[in-house]
Amino acid sequence: MIAKTIVKPTARLVEVFSAIQGEGLNVGTRQIFIRFGLCDLRCHFCDSAQTWDAPSVCKIERSPGLRDFEMHSNPVPLPILLQWVERQNLPSLHDSISLTGGEPLLHAPFLEQFLPEVRSLTNLPIYLETGGHRPEQLAMILPYLDSVGMDLKLPSVSGETHWTEHEKFLQLCFDANLEVFVKIIVSQRTDPGELKRSGMLVGGVHQDIPIFLQPVTPLADSEQFSQVPVLAPSPDQILEWQALMKQFVKQVRVIPQTHKMLKQM
Ligand code: SF4
Repeated sequence: MIAKTIVKPTARLVEVFSAIQGEGLNVGTRQIFIRFGLCDLRCHFCDSAQTWDAPSVCKIERSPGLRDFEMHSNPVPLPILLQWVERQNLPSLHDSISLTGGEPLLHAPFLEQFLPEVRSLTNLPIYLETGGHRPEQLAMILPYLDSVGMDLKLPSVSGETHWTEHEKFLQLCFDANLEVFVKIIVSQRTDPGELKRSGMLVGGVHQDIPIFLQPVTPLADSEQFSQVPVLAPSPDQILEWQALMKQFVKQVRVIPQTHKMLKQM
C-alpha cells in the first residue's frame, strides 16, 4: 500500500499587523493586515518591492498597533498564522481582515484552506487587495470573500497590461455579489484614452461599481527601481479625468494614499 502524502499548507508572509486602511472603499477602517510575499507584476510605481521575492523571515506584530514585532522564519504553517491573527483580534477593535501583498492570489491554494478557518475563528469580514489579473485563482476563494479592491493597471502608468484578465476578474466579483471597487493609480503620464477604456470596462460590468482614482505617491530615491519617473498628476488633470470617467460609472472618487499621511504601514 502506498502511503498518501499529506501536504501541510504553508504561506510565505512579509508581515502581520494592525493598522488603518489608507485606500479605497474601506479607507479609515481598522484592519488586521496579512501581507503575503511574492508578486508576478512589476508596476513602475510599486512601493512594496520588498514583497516581490519570497522572504526568508516575516515580521509579526505581537500587540495590535504597538509595532512590537517579532521575526519568524518562512514558510508559515496555517495553524500558526491562525494563532497570530487571533492574538491581534481584540474585542471590537477591527472592522475586517485585509489580504494584501505582493499578490495574495499567488497563495490561492493556501487561502482556500485558511479563509474558512480564520472566518469562523474571528467572525471578521475578509477583504482582498489584488492586482486583479488572476481570475482563475480568484475563483478558488470567492466563497470566502466579502469585499475586493481590484487594481486596474494602466499601461501608461504601471507598465503592465491586463485588460482581458481585469474584465473577467471584475465580472466574477460582481456575479458573486461581493462588495467590489476598482482602484486606478494615475500619474502625470496617464493616457486619457486608457482611462476611457477603463471606464467602459468597469461600466460594462456594472455602472454601480465605484472607481477610485488614486494620484500616485512619488517614490523616494531609495525606493526607485524603474527608470520611468512617476510623478503625481496636476490638479487640472485630476478634475478632467474624473469628469471623463463619470460618463461610464456613477461614482468616481479621488483619494490619495491616506495611510502615508497618517504614517501607517
Ligand atoms: S501588483 Fe502591487 S506589489 Fe505587485 S508590482 Fe504592482 S504595485 Fe507592486
